Amino acid sequence: VKEQPLLDTSQREAIRQRLIGWFLRGHRVLPWRSEPTPYRVWISEIMLQQTRVDTVVPYFERFMARFPDVAALARADIDDVLGLWSGLGYYSRARNLHRTAQLLVQAGHGELPAGIDALQKLPGIGRYTAGAIASIAFGLPAPILDGNAIRVLSRLADVAGDVAASATQRELWRLAALLVPADQASAFNQGLMELGATVCTPKGPSCKVCPLCGVCLAFAAGTVHLRPAKTPKKPPRPVSMLAVMVEHGGRLLLLKRPTAGLFGGLWDVVTAEHASAAPSPTDAARAVAAATGLHGAADGPLGRFEHVLSHRLLTVTVFRFAAEAALAPDALGGYEEARWVGSEDELAAMGLARLTRKVVELARAPVHQAELPL
Ligand code: SF4
Repeated sequence: VKEQPLLDTSQREAIRQRLIGWFLRGHRVLPWRSEPTPYRVWISEIMLQQTRVDTVVPYFERFMARFPDVAALARADIDDVLGLWSGLGYYSRARNLHRTAQLLVQAGHGELPAGIDALQKLPGIGRYTAGAIASIAFGLPAPILDGNAIRVLSRLADVAGDVAASATQRELWRLAALLVPADQASAFNQGLMELGATVCTPKGPSCKVCPLCGVCLAFAAGTVHLRPAKTPKKPPRPVSMLAVMVEHGGRLLLLKRPTAGLFGGLWDVVTAEHASAAPSPTDAARAVAAATGLHGAADGPLGRFEHVLSHRLLTVTVFRFAAEAALAPDALGGYEEARWVGSEDELAAMGLARLTRKVVELARAPVHQAELPL
């Protein structure tokens, strides 16, 4: 990757002043901005990873109402934390939050440490999140580089290297560190992210109203649409899965997945990957026997839907299996625990992946679902 010029001193000063001025004149009102304590900034930044702001807001408010500080989170049962996280995805984030809160309390701290190095030693806190907490909550001049900042900086400096390449990432971190001011790091970093979210957007950025238009090298060069430079991603790998609702007398059998691995620690119906794109009821009954030791026949398929995970495109075929009794399964294949769930409230409070909720909804109201042909 060619070494990029990282803007000269006067360009950097102009960017700082214009961006901070623009951010302080007005920005979106978000719940974590009103009271940026280290705890609130931490939780919001973790929730915002890979997740849209409007999705995060209600989750953040529920989380704060239930776990208002580090001590409350450390005391919580992990199942309650995962229950509140249900539907937000990337569940290791919730487990790391819980573990970090417990580590802080065990070490005699009720709050997060201020220093970048100390923050980065905590589970789930990488360089970006450490920078966000240090700058926004503690006012320290720490750089940040999230997706929004990458887009804005690569356009401002007209960076031609692939942003996924580590050499380009190093350049962008260097630029972020050169730009962040000693005295207004919080406003600068928040301004960078806000500009990326609202003005310097991925498609159709509003350059004409952008406060940085006059100092943006990509705008001057006509290369805005080429930045950030990316090599095309591989398409997600198609995977066929079957999912089985094991039921008895209106109760549904849920199985807890092991902590390590996909959807770790969450409750699930019986699921299994399947070689063929159209698994049969016999395949579904086999999967139930392997997961629970229960034998019998499965009905279906009830429907089929697609679900996208980061690198996989799942096609999920749903079946039903009527158990003879709501007995505790005597042999769990690959799961940690089993529980029969009767009421909707109980189901709603449990930590279920969005995929599992889609299975339950499809099985409850198959005609209302947008289904793929069976
Ligand atoms: S001028 Fe356009 S490309 Fe440059 S920072 Fe502003 S919105 Fe982004």
